[in-house]
Amino acid sequence: MPFGYNGKILRVDLSNKEISVDEPDEHFYRTYGGGSCLGAYYLLKELEPAVDPLSPENLLIFTGSVVTGAPAPGFSRSAIVSKSPLTGAIGESQAGGFFGSELKFAGYDAIVVKGKAEKPVYLSIRDGEVEIKEAAHLWGETTGETQAIIREELADERIVVTVIGQAGENLVRYACVLNNLKSAYGRMGMGAVMGSKNLKAVAVRGHKEVEMKDKDTVLRLAKRFSTNFKAESPDNDGLNDLGTAQYVMGQNEDGQLPTRNFQTGTMEGAENLYGQKMKETILVGRDGCYACPVRCKRVVKAADPFPVDPSYGGPEYETLAMLGSSCGVDDLVAVCKANELCNKYGLDTISTGGSIAFAMECYENGIITKEDTQGVELRFGNAKAMLEMVEKITRREGIGDILAEGVKRAAEKFGAGAEKFAIHVKGQEFPAHMPRAKGQLVLSYALSPLGADHLVSEHDPAFTPGAPSFFSDRVKPLGIQEPLEMRSIDYKKVRRFLYFQNVFSLLDTLTICFFTFAPVRYFTFDELVELVNAITDWQTSLWELLKLGERRIAMFRAFNVREGFTSEDDWLPERMFEPIRTGPREGQKVDKEELKKAIKLYYEMAGWDADGVPTKGKLAELDLFWIADELAKHGKFER
Ligand code: SF4
Repeated sequence: MPFGYNGKILRVDLSNKEISVDEPDEHFYRTYGGGSCLGAYYLLKELEPAVDPLSPENLLIFTGSVVTGAPAPGFSRSAIVSKSPLTGAIGESQAGGFFGSELKFAGYDAIVVKGKAEKPVYLSIRDGEVEIKEAAHLWGETTGETQAIIREELADERIVVTVIGQAGENLVRYACVLNNLKSAYGRMGMGAVMGSKNLKAVAVRGHKEVEMKDKDTVLRLAKRFSTNFKAESPDNDGLNDLGTAQYVMGQNEDGQLPTRNFQTGTMEGAENLYGQKMKETILVGRDGCYACPVRCKRVVKAADPFPVDPSYGGPEYETLAMLGSSCGVDDLVAVCKANELCNKYGLDTISTGGSIAFAMECYENGIITKEDTQGVELRFGNAKAMLEMVEKITRREGIGDILAEGVKRAAEKFGAGAEKFAIHVKGQEFPAHMPRAKGQLVLSYALSPLGADHLVSEHDPAFTPGAPSFFSDRVKPLGIQEPLEMRSIDYKKVRRFLYFQNVFSLLDTLTICFFTFAPVRYFTFDELVELVNAITDWQTSLWELLKLGERRIAMFRAFNVREGFTSEDDWLPERMFEPIRTGPREGQKVDKEELKKAIKLYYEMAGWDADGVPTKGKLAELDLFWIADELAKHGKFER
C-alpha cells in the first residue's frame, strides 16, 4: 500500500458511459507527482495534436497529488487540466476548497474524462463508487442551484460539488468551474471544456483517511503553523485579516494597480476597493480550504445599491482589480456583485474583467459604438455597464457573444486597430499585475506556456534591496543570495526567474497552496521536504522535488510545441512597451531589446533550443525521452 496516494486514477468515457481505473506504479507517481504534471502526461500520451479543445476528443482531468488531503495547511488544492479553448495551448486551472482532499478520501487521485455525453450528466463519486447521473434538469441552472439540487438528490448536505454555470454551458472560452461555490478553477476555460462534454458537475464524498508514513510529523508541523503563522509570517497574517484584498492599496500606492485596461497603475478611489474598507463595511465572514487556518477567502453581503449573496463568497484582489480598477470602477458593492455573478454563472473574473475593460477602451476610442453594445454606455467607470456585460457574456447575447471569445478573438472581429487594446499573452488575458513595474513578471507573462499567468513565479517586491530579510533568507537554499532591482531583466533576474519558476511549478505539481510555503509564506523549503517525506516515505530531497517542477514546465512546453506554438508566441502586448501614463511609475516601460536578450538567455538556461523547443538532452535528463520521440514523430526534430 503506497503512502499519500491511492494508486487509482478513475477513467470516464462519457460517449459510451464506460468507467475504468488505471493503477500506475510508484515510478509513475514519483515521476509525475500530480496536478498538471500528471495531467500533461495524459494529454501528451493520449491527445492527438490539433484537436479542437471543445470536441469530445479533448481530455478533462481533475487531479490532486501524492500529498493532497494530508491534514496540514496548503494540502487542499486540486487542478483541472485540458487543452485550453481560450489559448489552444495546454490549460490548467487550480482551486483550493475541498474537492481535491475529498476526491482522495473517496479513493481516487485523479479523474480523466473523455468523450461527450449524449445528454447532460453529472458524476457522483462516493467512497469509490462511481455513477453517471442524468442532469437534463440541471442544465440552465446556476452553480448555486445545481449544487443545492445535487445535494438534495444525493441526500448529502456535505458532498463537495464541482460545477459549471450557464457560461460553461454556453462555451464562453473563459468559463470556469466552481467547488463549493467559492473556490474557482478560474482560468483557461476549463468550464467550457466541461460544458462541451455535457458534464454539468462532479459530486464527490469519501471517508477514507490518507495513509501517511509519519502522521505525527505532519500533525506537529500543522500545529506549529496554526499556532504561529500570525506572529511569524507577516503576509499570512494579512491574508487572514484582509484576504488578498490586502494588496489593493500597496499596489495602488506603488503605481501597479491595473487601471482603465492597464493604461496606468493608479486610480482615484482605489481605497474603496481595499480589504480594510471591505472589512469595515460588508465583510460577514472568512472562509478557507481543507485543513488550513489562514481562511483567506472573504464572505460579503450587501443590500444596496446591489444585493450581494454571501453564498458566493467575496472578491479576491484579482477580481477587485480586473472588474474594479481596470474597468475604472471604484464601487466595492458593484464589484462584489460582479464577483457573485461570475461565481453564479461560472465565469473567470480575470478574463471577464479583462474583456470588459478591453471593450470599454474600444468604445471610448470609437471602435465600437452604442449600436454595437445594444445601447449600453460602455465607458470606464460605469459600474452598471460592467454588470450588464457580465450578463451578456454569460448568455452570449449581442456584443457579449464576441467578448465571450476573449480579447484576442474579439480584437480580430472588431478590427480598426482594436488589437492594441487587447492585453493578453497567447490569447489569455492579463491578471491584475503590471509587468512594466516588475521584471520577474515580464518573464512570467512572456514565457509561461499558460499565457499571461501571475502565479508561475514569485513577484519581485520581496526580493528587492531593502525588503525584509525574512524573505531573502528563505531563498538562500536555492542559491539566491542577493536582492535585485525591481524592474531589471538581466542575467541574474533570468536565473532567479528560472529557479522561482521551478519552485512554483513544484508547488503546482503537488497542488500545494503557495500562500502557505516559501519563498514568501510560512513553511520553509526544509519543511516542505520534511512534509513530503512524512506523507510518502520517499526519502526525497529539495533537488528531486525541484526536478519535478522543471519536468512539468518541459512537458507543458513540449505540448505547446506539438500544437504549433513557437518562440514568437513568447512576447508581450504592445502596450507593455509604451510608457505608463501617470502615477509614481509614469514613463516606465519594458525594453524590447532587453526582453529579446532575456528570452534567448532563458531558453539557454532551461535547456531549450533557439526556437524554444526543449532539447533532446534536456528531455532525457528529465526522464522524458519518450517526449523527444513524440516531438520527432511530429517533425520537431530528428529521432
Ligand atoms: S492560505 Fe488561503 S487559499 Fe491557501 S489553503 Fe489556506 S485558506 Fe486556502
